[in-house]
Amino acid sequence: MANCAEYIWIDGADPTPRLRSKTRILELPENPTPADFTPWNYDGSSTYQAPGKDSDLGLQPVYVACDPLRGPGNFLALCEVLDAEGTPHETNNRARLRQVLNAGGTQHDPWIGFEQEYTLYRGRDPLGWPQGGYPGPQGPYYCGVGSRQVFGREFVEAHTKACLDAGLMIYGTNAEVLPAQWEYQIGPRGFKGDDNDPLKICDQHWIARWLLWRVGELFDVEPSLENKPVKGDWNGSGQHANFSTKDMRDPRKGLKTIEDAIASLALTHAAHIASYGAGLSERLTGLHETSSIHEFRHGIAHRGASIRIPRQVHEKRCGYIEDRRPGANADPYLVTMMLIKTICKIAL
Ligand code: ADP
Ligand code: MN
Ligand code: MN
Ligand code: MN
Repeated sequence: MANCAEYIWIDGADPTPRLRSKTRILELPENPTPADFTPWNYDGSSTYQAPGKDSDLGLQPVYVACDPLRGPGNFLALCEVLDAEGTPHETNNRARLRQVLNAGGTQHDPWIGFEQEYTLYRGRDPLGWPQGGYPGPQGPYYCGVGSRQVFGREFVEAHTKACLDAGLMIYGTNAEVLPAQWEYQIGPRGFKGDDNDPLKICDQHWIARWLLWRVGELFDVEPSLENKPVKGDWNGSGQHANFSTKDMRDPRKGLKTIEDAIASLALTHAAHIASYGAGLSERLTGLHETSSIHEFRHGIAHRGASIRIPRQVHEKRCGYIEDRRPGANADPYLVTMMLIKTICKIAL
């Protein structure tokens, strides 16, 4: 049987990479694995990744999901980008995460869950905003209901269904503080069959992002991952990263391990900020539920902190921490790589 496979990869746009994809018709078995998808190539000179005179780059499928748009028998194949020698291209951050996992990270059984905030646009304005103007001030929009409170719910519903049909570990969604701003979460849910491997969660997160734009085409909306889409007294968009290790989840050593992790993060603040997305200083101002980019702070249930310990985690003395610093446009592979490297003390 001939099947459609959408090969998806991350380009070399600077400072914020974007997604690209193209279609290949393949003859596939019923439940294919990445190895069933033939390696492919593309023109890296058109994706800011290679010069024209030496432009062929390789696509190595590494994660496969069902294609919720084309339906049964069709697949989305997320790929790593390889250079001419077949080694990871310099823009391939997934390979960097693999390296940290293989250098000892995996032994700590790390889990990661992301909260992806984004803003919907139609034309030049956020969806539902008066043309060239502003809606009423922030307040009624977060988790709101009603056509004056939220803009784009039909899109969000369609995106959520697409993620579920693709078999992604979507955790939930909510309307955000800025009108036309939304969030989806992806990561550990406590389900029996779920695989919490951080590499897989990040792969799924990138596919969920691809689906944002793909489903956006159907609704004539353009999702933006900009950190500070609207200047002034309006919330920016973040990508809180929730992180735990085996020891953090262990009731006997959880709180102590969490305290050690926070002490390590305090020492590496600048390096983490450098890997947490472009233009972060516009968002991490100390206002709008953020901590200042220049300070490292932590606190229980504290939404103005760099690291928040959720209240129920403190009460149970085990669980996870929330790194509130990553911007909406950060690369989840890099964020996860940095958290494992710092907290699990991986020397490369
Ligand atoms: P918030 O209260 O900050 O809005 P959300 O409810 O939006 O948090 O998202 C919670 C996130 O935490 C989800 O992505 C979920 O997968 C993740 N998560 C839950 N438990 C763990 C854990 N033990 N380790 C890592 N991530 C976790
Ligand atoms: Mn959230
Ligand atoms: Mn949020
Ligand atoms: Mn959060």
